[in-house]
Amino acid sequence: MSKPVLFDNHGRPLTYVRLAVTDRCNLRCFYCMPEEGIKYLPKKQLLTFEEIERLLGIMAGMGISKVRLTGGEPFVRRDLMQLIRKIVDIHGITNVHLTTNGVFAAPYVEELKALGIASVNLSLDTLDEERFYRITRRDEYKLVRETLDKLLLHEIPVKINAVVMEGKNTDDIIPLAELTRQHPVSVRFIEEMPFNGEGSHYPVLHWTYRRIEDYLKQQYPGLQRLVDPDNSTAYHYQVPGYAGNIGIIAAFSRTFCGTCNRIRITAQGVLKTCLYDDGVLNIRDRMRSGCNDEALKSSLLQAFNQRPKDGFEAEKLRLSRMPASESMSTIGG
Ligand code: SAM
Ligand code: SF4
Repeated sequence: MSKPVLFDNHGRPLTYVRLAVTDRCNLRCFYCMPEEGIKYLPKKQLLTFEEIERLLGIMAGMGISKVRLTGGEPFVRRDLMQLIRKIVDIHGITNVHLTTNGVFAAPYVEELKALGIASVNLSLDTLDEERFYRITRRDEYKLVRETLDKLLLHEIPVKINAVVMEGKNTDDIIPLAELTRQHPVSVRFIEEMPFNGEGSHYPVLHWTYRRIEDYLKQQYPGLQRLVDPDNSTAYHYQVPGYAGNIGIIAAFSRTFCGTCNRIRITAQGVLKTCLYDDGVLNIRDRMRSGCNDEALKSSLLQAFNQRPKDGFEAEKLRLSRMPASESMSTIGG
């Protein structure tokens, strides 16, 4: 990988953008959206494919090399594959990743492989069909498993994301970890964050990253701590002899901010330089008001130079208070 050329005001390289292609979703995971859904953005407020391509082209020229498409559910956006085909061709973008709930993804796995997708993050909080229904409020477990099987068959690197929730899926921690016995997958346990689209509660975090680690160590006394890849948000572990690895993401405790290399573009085209800020630049409006590439680049640089040092500072600087009424599906998880 070429050396990063873009740095923030704290000397952290910026190489990675996460872009929400839509805020819409076919599931209703209770930690992300209320049962009735969120008030979706009118479609014309979403970035068009042309705007996304232009923006990523500008960012690639500035030093961003890794892109993750997320949402909402990316496959709910019509012609998603058409967008991916364009993005993999952008000069300077070397790694394209996808985060999906997996319900609609299975038919596209072969093409994703052919396009050289770098990895797929699959959200799967439980291996139990009934619990899946209780968490996502939809009966789609089988389709998600089909996607997982296909990704494994086609040897696309897979990370399984599981939010750990008291009283909901803690019985799944070990069955999910057991997927790493035979499969070369990374199963990542995530602390729940206060972005459920309701703004009604700030969860007491029962399952902190330390508790998850202790729990895993009780079950697997030989659990080995691995060296984490650069800029990783996860602490990595492996059960000796297992094919895959386990990650723990302290998303709420925010232990990883010191090496954070990522920025976000929300579904409505707003730049977030931290997950916990409430948006620092409306890129869509700048583009639609006729801003040229140079001017856009300079607005981006200005935002990158005012990045909060961590998620706690970003939270303090928010104009809207926490708990956020935002949903992760608008932010792009
Ligand atoms: N729909 C896709 C999916 O579920 O994979 C992509 C978007 S989703 C918002 C991205 C990730 O955010 C998922 O892995 C989901 O588990 C995570 N997420 C959503 N709300 C969360 C919350 N309140 N706390 C922690 N993770 C959350
Ligand atoms: Fe949809 Fe993903 Fe949010 Fe679940 S986590 S409701 S799948 S956007």
